[in-house]
Amino acid sequence: MNIFYAPPSQINNGYAELLDQEAIHASKVMRAREGDKLTIVDGEGGHYRGIIRRITKKSVQVEIEDAQHHSRPKPHLVLGMGIIKKRDRLEFAVEKAIELGAAQICLFRSEHTIKENVRMDRLESLAISAMKQSLQAHLSTIEVYHSLDVMLESVFADNILVAHEKVDEAKGDINYKSVRNSERTLLLVGPEGGFSESEIRDLTDKGGELVSLGPNRLRAETAAIAFMSQFL
Ligand code: SAH
Repeated sequence: MNIFYAPPSQINNGYAELLDQEAIHASKVMRAREGDKLTIVDGEGGHYRGIIRRITKKSVQVEIEDAQHHSRPKPHLVLGMGIIKKRDRLEFAVEKAIELGAAQICLFRSEHTIKENVRMDRLESLAISAMKQSLQAHLSTIEVYHSLDVMLESVFADNILVAHEKVDEAKGDINYKSVRNSERTLLLVGPEGGFSESEIRDLTDKGGELVSLGPNRLRAETAAIAFMSQFL
């Protein structure tokens, strides 16, 4: 099923309009024609089926035949991840986390992060394609924070789980009940060099629970995927 993205601002009076990459994808890549049916998500839970009424160079106009609203899936998971050095690995981790249900991705600089900046344009288009590919109707948000502290101050989460390879496995079980009962759970994964001792102290002082992802030392991107997969 071909699924396209149009933000709410492009959906009015029973019509949805595909623009930019989405219009190109429909008309050029999928060679869609007037009369063809397609599905559109608006990134805020809106899920529409419609029929193409007009194709121009820059847009595809779709008449909506059926409209539904999908509520935000529970639990509401936020993945907080140190900015890892290799861009393709970071993008891979972000894409998989979104497919696995991360509603928000918060990238942060920390004591051991090497890289300073990320290609936000690439991450945002990757979030749209991951939403469409995984047939979700909610678009995950991606933010970058200057430090772990700034991220913790800015992100609302009533439950914080910290993946830490040094925690004693026996004590590092995930408290699934706390995740189910929380509004928003923040799952934290460190960069390649992990969290520093003082960051771990700080995180536990702020109520973060240290969690083991098993006996093996995982790469950060693997840990992000393993962590998200615990809540499927
Ligand atoms: N500090 C180590 C490994 C860091 S791995 C080093 O210097 O090589 C990067 C991140 O992945 C860690 O900060 C942690 O969040 C996560 N991670 C890796 N393996 C893990 C495990 N077995 N249990 C929990 N978290 C793990």
